[in-house]
Amino acid sequence: MDHAVELIDHHCHQVVNRDLGHDAFANMISESFADAAPGTSHWDKPVGLSIRRWCAPVLDLPKFASPADYVDRRLELGAAEVNRRFLRRSGIARYIVDSGNRPGELCSVDELAALAGAPSHEVIRMESVAEQVVRDGTDAAGYAAAFEAALEGSLTANVVGLKTVIAYRSTLAIDTSPPSAAEIEAAAGAFLRRYDATGKARVVEAALERHILWRGAELARARGMPVQFHIGLGDPDVTLHACDPSHLTQFFRDVESWNVPMTLLHCYPFVREAGMLAENFRHVYFDVGFIQNWSGPSYVRMMEDALETAPFTKQLFSTDAFGLSELYYLGALRFRDSLSRVLGDWIARDECPMDEAARIVGLIGGANARRIYPGLG
Ligand SMILES: [Zn+2]
Repeated sequence: MDHAVELIDHHCHQVVNRDLGHDAFANMISESFADAAPGTSHWDKPVGLSIRRWCAPVLDLPKFASPADYVDRRLELGAAEVNRRFLRRSGIARYIVDSGNRPGELCSVDELAALAGAPSHEVIRMESVAEQVVRDGTDAAGYAAAFEAALEGSLTANVVGLKTVIAYRSTLAIDTSPPSAAEIEAAAGAFLRRYDATGKARVVEAALERHILWRGAELARARGMPVQFHIGLGDPDVTLHACDPSHLTQFFRDVESWNVPMTLLHCYPFVREAGMLAENFRHVYFDVGFIQNWSGPSYVRMMEDALETAPFTKQLFSTDAFGLSELYYLGALRFRDSLSRVLGDWIARDECPMDEAARIVGLIGGANARRIYPGLG
């Protein structure tokens, strides 16, 4: 696949733009919150091997450099130089960034754009807005209006979408009908009591998540922007079997006539479910971001699964890179290479003409995202 295809990374985060020591780097390639099991290393998994194979040469090291040599070289070059190298060599033309995950540890969206030398847009994580409303001070009766005003206020000029992490919180296995005012008030009361007791603002109440879901969809409809959904894999806060996107089927039926694009992020291991939802509902899209990085040498199979049934017009490119600039570079490399290999195989078997394959690459690489996200220039 040639570098001329415009790659729009429709779901990623920002980078850590300060030096990372050996333990800090190893912990960034783990979804676990803990150090590796005694006597083992977080490097010992497919993504660790991939970083040593593909990223070490970008830092002028031999391929398969040891983890210790890799982190030493990273420290020698300094974070800014490392980040510039990986971001600029990724070939990603545009970044759409969920800026709401651990923002204190990462650079800003504008800093990412400067390091990458590419425009970067923002997606608002709606749970973060709800949590800020509680930190800023509200009561249960005033919560709904305060959240709605704050959500609207968050849509600055560079914002191109909304995101929900409902999968992490109430899970997707809930009744997704619109909540009543009384349900919202009661749930806000529970949220506020928990905040007072623990000092931690973390929204988990199903009624508040339903409120986020419906108000988010309404606002996205008014502004002509997509809503993103975290789906499937994640850190230990995810209860995986309750993050199957088919739990959202009734919600998708309820809002289909609104024509709000709903993008299902990463989806693994529910790639087939996501692909069929994208087939069944005209407003549903999906990607296999993150897992192509995480699966290392098995990345081609992830793309085969994604291309198994879903319309070519419904798949999007994403890296879901978080913190490490290696993951943008590697994600783009895996995406390009897997698409070339799968479509190359279709061409060889006379299942797909060459020009059609080029069109499919263009759609998934960037044209589908350009069609559904506003203001991409
Ligand atoms: Zn993600």
